[in-house]
Amino acid sequence: MKYIDPHIHMVSRTTDDYQRMAEAGCVAVTEPAFWAGYDRSSAQGFYDYFRLLTRFEPKRAAEYGIDHYTWICINPKEAENLGLAREVIEIIPEFLTEDTVLGVGEIGLNKNTRNELTILEEQIGIADRHDQLILVHTPHLEDKRKGTRITLDAIKRNGNIDPGRVLIDHVEEHTVKMVLDEGFWAGMTLYPNSKCTVQRAVDIIETYGTERLWVNSAGDWGHSDPMTVPKTAMELKRRGHGPEMFETIAFRNPLTFLSQCPKCKVIDA
Ligand SMILES: [Zn+2]
Repeated sequence: MKYIDPHIHMVSRTTDDYQRMAEAGCVAVTEPAFWAGYDRSSAQGFYDYFRLLTRFEPKRAAEYGIDHYTWICINPKEAENLGLAREVIEIIPEFLTEDTVLGVGEIGLNKNTRNELTILEEQIGIADRHDQLILVHTPHLEDKRKGTRITLDAIKRNGNIDPGRVLIDHVEEHTVKMVLDEGFWAGMTLYPNSKCTVQRAVDIIETYGTERLWVNSAGDWGHSDPMTVPKTAMELKRRGHGPEMFETIAFRNPLTFLSQCPKCKVIDA
């Protein structure tokens, strides 16, 4: 069994996690830029974070035979400060040319504010001008459905973005259908006991099928579990699904989406 975890924040995880993931069959991870649990005091703080993502983390992953890719952006939580956000936006393009950067992400909305939307639109513009894939964070809890709708509309308003090159992450039962119906890819981020669990994800797969759908652990600095992707294989098996369903959801689908960027070198074998 091999798999890709296409959304995990390895800068917050230990080498023990890399070890366990490798033993469970993980061959590649992709790591979106995110809120690190604290607000950075300057654009220089982001510059250093982007260097960590592009220079150091791939070497750490390689020690365990795992390919490490990343996505660059300013996250929605820190986008509330427009001045700082625009300073960060200025430095994003120089990182988009790095060998392991697959696109712009995870952009999106946190509280659905006007400032967040402004910076989201500006970063959709960067992805458009630099021909980048996009990975989108959607808000949690009561803001999710509305925030997802606003985000999909913002991407469509740009006019040049192919929805087949956009992954909308953190989908749940009440947002997955609109995302898939409008041609986007959908990601389910699996948490141990909050947000979308492994059991709920398998319910969603059984309801909507496997087309343009993937799972990821979203492992970060909070209570999360980098093993939720292989645990999905166990839940699928428990319900009587064959191994090809896990292969589709956790390897073939991420590979198909990510390979739209020629820098993705994960071997399909
Ligand atoms: Zn994330």
